Amino acid sequence: MNIKRNVLLNPGPSTTTDTVKMAQIVPDICPREKEFAGMMRQMREDLVRIVHGETAKSPYTAVLFCGSGTINIDVCLNSLLPEGKKALIVNNGAYSTRAREVCEYYGLTHIDLSLPIDRPVDVAAVERALAENPDVALVYTTHHETGTGVLNPIREIGAAAHRHGAIFVIDSTSSYAMIPIDVERDNVDFCMASAQKGLMAMTGLSFVVGREDVIRRSAEYPKRSYYCNLFLQYDFFEKTGEMHFTPPVQTVYAARQAIREYFEEGEQAKWARHTRVFEAIHKGLSELGFRNVIKREHQAGLVVSVLYPDDENWSFERVHDYCYEHGFTIYPGKISTTNTFRLCALGAIDVSDIEAFFVVLKQALVTNGISVPVVYKEK
Ligand SMILES: *Cc1c(COP(=O)(O)O)cnc(C)c1O
Repeated sequence: MNIKRNVLLNPGPSTTTDTVKMAQIVPDICPREKEFAGMMRQMREDLVRIVHGETAKSPYTAVLFCGSGTINIDVCLNSLLPEGKKALIVNNGAYSTRAREVCEYYGLTHIDLSLPIDRPVDVAAVERALAENPDVALVYTTHHETGTGVLNPIREIGAAAHRHGAIFVIDSTSSYAMIPIDVERDNVDFCMASAQKGLMAMTGLSFVVGREDVIRRSAEYPKRSYYCNLFLQYDFFEKTGEMHFTPPVQTVYAARQAIREYFEEGEQAKWARHTRVFEAIHKGLSELGFRNVIKREHQAGLVVSVLYPDDENWSFERVHDYCYEHGFTIYPGKISTTNTFRLCALGAIDVSDIEAFFVVLKQALVTNGISVPVVYKEK
């Protein structure tokens, strides 16, 4: 089968290999069969292995959910906060703001530690908040803020959380299986992702990787959701090997293939590939005169936030549509105060795709009468 290859430069879902696409075409199967449960058991172990949780002193486990990545944020916050305790949301961007909103929806007692979005979290501010609030039981942040591309110092934030007796939960949706993570070394008790980002698989499957003893303890915590309770889902997996409710069957097959390909490529080689794609994005942007919003040293190496040029002919929509027609997807920004778009180094792509993209982007600018190199009012 010949499938058109699109290069997705949006922050997920990402470009997949044909072998992952084709892995979805399988004989019909009832997911309650032993064969399917066995596949998920193996997958849970593999997902722990990707963040090196299998060698940690306290055992880690993976719990799968049917849903987009946000389901993990919902699950972790509503399930892991004991009665009468507070969550500290260390917030320097749109994804941690989403976590704050989850707290608001569930009525969870929380502190929104709102920090500047154009730089990594200041760990001293986290320390102060923890010292002032001894009832914080859960510290939460986003590893790689996909909205801006900023990388947060999880190891240091996690160490602060642990010094104050709190568990540390990270949203690693846009770093898992890309930036190497070692849960024990990085002081992470819970991390999360969905299959369509770093794993380069299909949408609809998400998972939390975290400490089994904490999940068991959470059986005693208030039950705030039925579908999205971490202990209930974990317990069902442990007893039956299955998801509590219907899993996304074909997506699970694709994820299995993607995990095989992840281990074949290897953690370091994969990260090196994302890094060279990221460098190629920077090179192409600077050749066209585009400016970054976030200082280079604060960028995680996966997402570039680009400032709109000051050109009366500039139109993100028209540039987007031209690129889209030529097989490349670019994405709007997520910084409410600045006009930006984003280019992301996720997915099964390499430098040659980025070079081909910049040929098309330049044509898009020229076709729309936008100056090349692009211009900015401020020097
Ligand atoms: C993509 C992403 C999510 C999940 O978004 P969904 O649209 O629910 O898949 C969560 N956090 C971060 C940091 C992300 O990049």
